Amino acid sequence: MKLPNNVVTQITQFLDKSLVLTDIEDRYAYSFEKIYEKKSYRIPDIVVRVDQFTNTSKLFNLAKDQDITVISRSTFDSRPIIEPSKITILLDDLKRPDMERRIEKPDDLKKTLIKKMQSNAYSVYHNIASVQQFMNLKESLNKCLQRDVCGGYCTITPSYQGIETWSAKGRMLLIKGLMKGELEYSKKIVDIMYTCSQCGNCFGECFEQLDFHKAITRIRQIIAEKKLTPKVFHTTASNIITSGDPAAIPAEKRLSWIENILGNSFPEKADYVYWVGCMVSYRTPKTAIAFYNILKNSRVSFTMLGRNEGCCGYVLLSSGLLDEARKVAKKTVEKIEKTKAKSLITPCAGCYYTFTKLFPEIVDIELPCEVLHSTQFIEREIKANKLVLNSLQAKVTYHDPCSLGRHCNVYETPRYILDAVPNLTITEMPFNQYQARCCGGGGGLWNYNHQISMDAALKRLSDDFIPLDINILTTACPLCQMNLRITARRNSIPVQVRDVTEIIESVMNENPYLNSR
Ligand code: SF4
Ligand code: SF4
Repeated sequence: MKLPNNVVTQITQFLDKSLVLTDIEDRYAYSFEKIYEKKSYRIPDIVVRVDQFTNTSKLFNLAKDQDITVISRSTFDSRPIIEPSKITILLDDLKRPDMERRIEKPDDLKKTLIKKMQSNAYSVYHNIASVQQFMNLKESLNKCLQRDVCGGYCTITPSYQGIETWSAKGRMLLIKGLMKGELEYSKKIVDIMYTCSQCGNCFGECFEQLDFHKAITRIRQIIAEKKLTPKVFHTTASNIITSGDPAAIPAEKRLSWIENILGNSFPEKADYVYWVGCMVSYRTPKTAIAFYNILKNSRVSFTMLGRNEGCCGYVLLSSGLLDEARKVAKKTVEKIEKTKAKSLITPCAGCYYTFTKLFPEIVDIELPCEVLHSTQFIEREIKANKLVLNSLQAKVTYHDPCSLGRHCNVYETPRYILDAVPNLTITEMPFNQYQARCCGGGGGLWNYNHQISMDAALKRLSDDFIPLDINILTTACPLCQMNLRITARRNSIPVQVRDVTEIIESVMNENPYLNSR
């Protein structure tokens, strides 16, 4: 139906423009109710979003005068009869679903969910086809009907005033539309698919454990095949390939943090490779130094790749640029092989996730050695009584990075090592472990739209951290650290954001290198 322009103009005379949605992507997403539903009604001509304070009488009067059908979502129980010849307005008057509306799951379901997350093979639905197939199963529909959780569980939705098109559910419905040929790969759809931090928060909340974030990874690959990937990711890819850093910081600067300590020579072979990562090398050098000191203190034999290290390629894998990602992954394997190391250790949660999950799952490549996150190495050292910690009278909280927590199931280790510091008190934020709110930095979102990343970080800080009334927030990911720190600074939030490794290094007994900096 061709929409007479004047209807929209008339509505926007009494309702704010932002409440009136006319793009096909929004109207398509709103034409479904629960995610597994077959189409609920024909695609409405206009979606009007209102809340309990909106006076809708003018809208209803207009509808009456112009013979327009208005369907109210909140009273929709059976399919209304819609005459195809009439203009249809879908009134989105449901209470806005949001991240606060967490539904406590029954214990057995919770156990199954956590077990699935703990297993390496938790990813049951590897690609869109299977997610979509699952969405169409009758049993799924029945289980899902009363919940509709994913309409609100998205890190990003608050930045878009809760419009469901920008939620996990909206993205899945748009993918469904693309797969069925009912939608085109428009600029807006590409934008929606890249405005996702791939945090898996929606997966953590889904009663059916649908791994939405992986379906989004897959659709980004299809978008790349169609040569529609946003330009910024091509620039990032070429930076990674030419200089080894997503922002093209020259490789010579990678070692700035260490030059005063050591000069630039590393053994060719060693038991461990300290993989610093570009985020830690350039953006959180204190973490780089802290973990270097811990390794030195442990007396293990280790080496580093220095200016040849390069980038793990996380952004390439998450943005769907598979050819470039494969190239980078193969080079990484060659570099590690040369060291003959039995373990690679990294303080970067993103590199850890890339090496342990994304390499094998997406490009079918395995590193030739064990991969440890720095917190796992520290845990081993503490358990073997090789690392003795002094007391620290402080109160801290721990922010679970998605790459380490939800994606790799490392929840206990960072808490264990913080707990090993005498007199240190850990206070949990309300949303933690598999329900931890995402800082918004992952999935390439920081590259794509860092304002949206910072919106999410601000929510994490203002809603979860500030009420704790403490001033140290620890984490185990340089991207979380950087995003939370920059956001706190811009919003004058008094918080010290520190990597767990830095806390441990500061209380390490015997630290001959600490004073030499
Ligand atoms: S992965 Fe995170 S950002 Fe993406 S749809 Fe799910 S909750 Fe939203
Ligand atoms: S979160 Fe999962 S179970 Fe819940 S409505 Fe969405 S798809 Fe269904």
